[in-house]
Amino acid sequence: MLTQNLGYPRIGSQRELKKSCENYWAAQTTYKNLLQVGKNIRHENWQLQKEAGIDIIPSNDFSFYDQVLDHSLSFGAIPKRYNEVILKKGNTELDLYFAMARGYQKEGLDIVAMEMTKWFDTNYHYIVPEFYKDQHFKLFSTKIIDEYYEAKQLGIVTKPVLIGPVSYLLLGKEKEAGFEKIDLIKNLLPVYLDILTRLIALEVEYVQFDEPFLTLDLTVKEQQAFTFVYKEIRKAFPHLKIILATYFEGLENNLALATTLPISILHIDLVRAPQQLNTVIEALNDQIILSLGLVDGRNIWKNDFEQSLNLIAQAIAQLGEDRVWIAPSCSLIHVPVDLANETNEKNLTPEVKQWLAFAKQKIEEVVTLKNLLENQPSAIALKKLELNQLAKQNRATSQLIHNQLVKNRVAAIVEKDSSRINKFPERKIKQQALNLPAYTTTTIGSFPQTPEVRSWRAKFKNGSISSEAYDELIATETAKAVKWQEEIDLDVLVHGEFERNDMVEYFGEQLNGFAFSKNGWVQSYGSRCVKPPIIFGDVSRPHAMTVKWTAYAQSLTSKHMKGMLTGPVTILQWSFVRNDQPRSETCTQIALAIRDEVVDLEKAGIKIIQIDEPAIREGLPLRKLDWQNYLNWAVKAFRIAASGVQDETQIHTHMCYSEFNDIIHNIAEMDADVITIETSRSQMELLDAFANFKYPNEIGPGVYDIHSPRVPKRAEMVHLLKKAKAVIPEAQLWVNPDCGLKTRGWDETKRALIEMVEAAKEMRNN
Ligand code: GLN
Ligand code: ZN
Repeated sequence: MLTQNLGYPRIGSQRELKKSCENYWAAQTTYKNLLQVGKNIRHENWQLQKEAGIDIIPSNDFSFYDQVLDHSLSFGAIPKRYNEVILKKGNTELDLYFAMARGYQKEGLDIVAMEMTKWFDTNYHYIVPEFYKDQHFKLFSTKIIDEYYEAKQLGIVTKPVLIGPVSYLLLGKEKEAGFEKIDLIKNLLPVYLDILTRLIALEVEYVQFDEPFLTLDLTVKEQQAFTFVYKEIRKAFPHLKIILATYFEGLENNLALATTLPISILHIDLVRAPQQLNTVIEALNDQIILSLGLVDGRNIWKNDFEQSLNLIAQAIAQLGEDRVWIAPSCSLIHVPVDLANETNEKNLTPEVKQWLAFAKQKIEEVVTLKNLLENQPSAIALKKLELNQLAKQNRATSQLIHNQLVKNRVAAIVEKDSSRINKFPERKIKQQALNLPAYTTTTIGSFPQTPEVRSWRAKFKNGSISSEAYDELIATETAKAVKWQEEIDLDVLVHGEFERNDMVEYFGEQLNGFAFSKNGWVQSYGSRCVKPPIIFGDVSRPHAMTVKWTAYAQSLTSKHMKGMLTGPVTILQWSFVRNDQPRSETCTQIALAIRDEVVDLEKAGIKIIQIDEPAIREGLPLRKLDWQNYLNWAVKAFRIAASGVQDETQIHTHMCYSEFNDIIHNIAEMDADVITIETSRSQMELLDAFANFKYPNEIGPGVYDIHSPRVPKRAEMVHLLKKAKAVIPEAQLWVNPDCGLKTRGWDETKRALIEMVEAAKEMRNN
């Protein structure tokens, strides 16, 4: 029995890579220094895994920006527009690489970056390969080979990790008509063969091919591509030990395909799909080794050793010890680096900490599981088992986690709790009392979070200003924002969210059941890292969270002040979620807490309340078959949050930056009185879905993109509004930007919103 790891975080335990890359981009550090930082991280990671006792250690899991982009560069899949970057004297391969990732704006060139999108259902974003008809691939960067060699020089034998050829193609996008990306498989094969030839010349024994698409629905053509390409690889390298890694879901309808490929080791995800173990074992021919993905690479909880040992024993009983490996479920880039860095007991109490494992601890868990299966487990391993069981037991009963009142409340939810008193048409009549003009103007919530505002919060957190002084500063900033919105004649105002660090963290910090790490960073894209809250226990709301600032802002104006909340699905989606109950249960608990806040806002005289759900789309399961189940509970959670108020109170929701066409019915089922949604980048194309389906409630299609400092012209916004009016009845339309303005500066924000208000007036007078 061997242990393997599929991939280790590469940001460095103190986010060294982030800092170094950003310094390099700002010309504040040298190329040589940046390379050295990368090298140090790789060495540390290899060394750490070796010392922990992992048998098969990955290489090529390091990346300066993104592993998919690494492959595009390696395979020479470089869009033509970057040719000029290559030709510029002094530019290195890494400069080209960063240009592909981030665009290139210097020396009179202005070349856009490649597109970025989410990596399956994670919060990691990869750079989308661009494919052209008859595209050929050839080795451009030797990173894969170099990193293997680098480790070898250090005396560490590694397993190069490659994205498998089928998944690599499926991750990309056709940039011209007349072909399907999967047709490129024949052209892609030679570059894989080339790389493998070079690796084998360096005595590589194992190669890992990541093929996560094997856990998704595949077309016949895609299935054939799998068979074709792995047969060819096998033909060329009869002795290579091919590890086929699948993760994020079970193999299900692709099981027969995966198990008939000429591979040596099949890795499966037993965290997401533990039920697949027996069927996979049955389908396995007697050559293939099974790698059990037992330790959760997507979440931060300690492994349940007892359960894992059972699964391993089950596999060994049927396959024999030599044909069973132990591993994390997927690459560990989706979890923070090292729990030992969490030394602040105020953030993460020892009680919560004992339930957690970050990447380094997960590596140790994999090795401990192996040790526990040896004939004579070491005393240390046995001690670890004991501690593991202890933590499990006290997690099952801890007062910190389990709140019977919350559980009772969830159990007592009845049908009417997820419905407004009356249907929208009746609510709309009652909401006429709000007295809003046609083409009502509003914003999405946040106003610029200037460095100054951020510095107040930092000072408050480190104790250098008092909470009174902090409140005073926030109050002044809020009052300024309210006054200015009145001046430019916006219709529905917002308080500006100056008191909020982040739209999830702000609520999590005030709710029971949430914890926060100090250094629990996870790569989101490139140098950007996020620190998701940890939902460890039953969620409840000890006190009102937003009433103070909202009511204060309302007291300053006779216009309507819109309350601003983050929805239950988004809070769930952007956190590490407890794994001891279904996600739907946790989401319902959050929904009840938000519901209480909505009711409190209403009581405080707030008549319009927005519940943001930008993450509702990204929660969709990977397989379509599972969509409906998710949508049912997600939509219901939103409705629970929104339905505690009178018909006269207007509920808004907001969504952005996703494809909504295929879930438009479900969005309508959320039954918000108004939805504000991003549409300007697609020139209102997104609205077609709303129009075709005849979206019943009111809609605010974003009229300008907030991602750019560019100030839109009034005529452009009028043009977009006319486009919207052509497909949505005027009486249903609102006017607003695409998203919150917190990343913008005041100057451009002011100028843009003045134009927006004028555009709405022009529409009214038409
Ligand atoms: N109310 C939030 C804001 O304005 C919404 C942010 C979002 O959609 N991501 O910042
Ligand atoms: Zn948004």
